[in-house]
Amino acid sequence: MADTRPRNNKTTDILQAAAEGKYGVVACIAYNVEHIIGFVRAAEIQESPLIIQLFPWAITYSNGLLVHAVAIAARQATVPVAVHLDHCQDEALVRQACELPFDSIMVDMSHHAKDVNLAKTRELIAYVHSKGKSAEAEPGRIEGGEDGLADTADLTGLMTTNDEVQQFLDAGVDTLAPAFGNVHGNYGPRGIVLEWDRLRQIQQAVSAAGVFIALHGVNQFPVSLTRDLISAGVTKINLNRDILEPYYNHVEKRINKVPFTQVMEEATQVVCDSMAEYMDWVQSTGKAST
Ligand SMILES: [Zn+2]
Repeated sequence: MADTRPRNNKTTDILQAAAEGKYGVVACIAYNVEHIIGFVRAAEIQESPLIIQLFPWAITYSNGLLVHAVAIAARQATVPVAVHLDHCQDEALVRQACELPFDSIMVDMSHHAKDVNLAKTRELIAYVHSKGKSAEAEPGRIEGGEDGLADTADLTGLMTTNDEVQQFLDAGVDTLAPAFGNVHGNYGPRGIVLEWDRLRQIQQAVSAAGVFIALHGVNQFPVSLTRDLISAGVTKINLNRDILEPYYNHVEKRINKVPFTQVMEEATQVVCDSMAEYMDWVQSTGKAST
């Protein structure tokens, strides 16, 4: 099958540099403009690459306005910043998103049965590529849900198999989001139990194909575990609640106590500080210019 993957794609370029340099890149959900400003400020201070993600919710809620805001912030940044659509589970919305300034789109059909997931993913990846964007997809199914993604919270997880990895590579995927024990949202009483052998096999297959691994479900991971996963070949580190927790706490503490503009400015700085810390974690600090 012909390689339809787009060249000169910002998400691909950022992840390629990370794979070569053996560091991770934070890919964090932005829900509003304070998040966008705080994330980019951190990237510039840390001289770090960054991927800003939006949920499909952001497209429908803001009629695309938030996507344009991220894209403008990314374009103006002095460091590489890519704009990514996370977990797009609706086929029509994938096509709609292709008309918006995303660099990459996660085509998430993992709520369907395996064979349907593969068939729909293959078709949508071809469409996404034809629009010059790169594609992430999820073979198997990562359990749990996130704020803005409640639809799939009740589905049980399915570990990614070697056959599925090969099928998704054949479908032309640029970034693979495997399920190997990682869970969206909170880990239960069992704690974090990852299947390292499964990850290693997946990594061997995808790196031979020039494809990247996105790690979903990083909530509550200690820094040592995150770094072990980066050493095992993961480059895209999806984060949400952990980075934004200090922001939520700050707003709760300060709202209606000081002028709202002050709350916003303080909270933006809290987001920046939190993001900067995670850039140190994944060791992308200082990597923007290399
Ligand atoms: Zn995810």
